Amino acid sequence: MLSRNSVNILKRLQVRLQSTLVIAEHNNATLTPITRSSITAAKKIGNDVTVLVAGTKCSEVASSVAKLDGVKRVLVAENEAFNGFLAEAITPLVLAAQKQFNFSHIIAGASAQGKSIVPRIASKLDVSPISEVIAIKDKDTFVRTIYAGNAVLTLKSLDAVKVLTVRGTNFEATGDASAAAVVENAPAGEFKTDLAAFVGQELAKSDRPELTAAKCIVSGGRGLKSGENFKILYDLADKLGGAVGASRAAVDAGYVSNDLEIGQTGKIVAPDLYIAVGISGAIQHLAGMKDSKTIVAINKDPEAPIFQVADLGLVADLFKAVPELTEKI
Ligand SMILES: Cc1cc2nc3c(=O)[nH]c(=O)nc-3n(C[C@H](O)[C@H](O)[C@H](O)COP(=O)(O)OP(=O)(O)OC[C@H]3O[C@@H](n4cnc5c(N)ncnc54)[C@H](O)[C@@H]3O)c2cc1C
Repeated sequence: MLSRNSVNILKRLQVRLQSTLVIAEHNNATLTPITRSSITAAKKIGNDVTVLVAGTKCSEVASSVAKLDGVKRVLVAENEAFNGFLAEAITPLVLAAQKQFNFSHIIAGASAQGKSIVPRIASKLDVSPISEVIAIKDKDTFVRTIYAGNAVLTLKSLDAVKVLTVRGTNFEATGDASAAAVVENAPAGEFKTDLAAFVGQELAKSDRPELTAAKCIVSGGRGLKSGENFKILYDLADKLGGAVGASRAAVDAGYVSNDLEIGQTGKIVAPDLYIAVGISGAIQHLAGMKDSKTIVAINKDPEAPIFQVADLGLVADLFKAVPELTEKI
């Protein structure tokens, strides 16, 4: 017969064993939208949700995370070692938190940062990382795309700890909470690393919305024929308050920089409106945009595969059609 005390300890252990850690992404000032989506994914698992905020001066971000719906606790770690958010420094912090709290699930967004941290954590915990999750069926069963988005795989993980990246475009952003969650210090430790050093970063400055957060994207392909010709897309995007994206062919040809690339090796987007201009619709491009709510294609070739996924198609010369469209808006 177990004493009441032992029962309570067992109950607490049970709660611990079924809890989820979300690794927040931010720039020490504002939270990246994918974290709100990751929290929604965590809520779907059904456990208590803890969010880890690691940075150099990130206490304000931690306070804002505490006010998000579904968050039970925020662990905050401020340390110069997290300058540049190097995966080599953040991984031991996550492992220290895991050692203390014994989470059953660890989630990060499927962003460059999440994709860098999660495999390291999974390998240290000796479990399989589950990447680019697009839906959560239950605490063990996850849906993800494979073969550049051409097949959907539902997998059941038998690992003791599930370590996932989730696609931001497939989970709504969590809303604000009525009451703030507890904010406490993450486990302390020596997180300075000799494996990598943060030298600096140059961020592209733009008045236009960021691609992965834009509600409207005007995207150009090889059909634009030059970087200068992208101006007609910028004019249209400005009228629509949208962002400009590109196919890999347009990036490889040097028409635009590679941070505009959409697709399997570029960004995954799902805006309300995606206008594909002079893009043929190769599977690798579709992998990055086919979840867009409304897809419009402008292409002079009526057989172009992009028309198979388009809600609205215009068979026309883009150099005539796009300026006309911009003028009429
Ligand atoms: C491993 C791998 C990963 C890849 N990852 C990506 C990725 O992430 N993103 C990506 O985009 N691609 C990716 N690709 C490349 C992909 O296979 C295609 O080559 C690429 O998407 C083609 O780009 P495009 O549609 O701009 O060019 P094209 O296929 O050359 O199409 C150009 C289109 O423009 C139309 N056009 C030309 N002139 C006009 C005009 N005047 N008016 C109207 N229409 C016109 C043509 O009819 C044509 O349909 C990847 C490939 C590989 C092998």
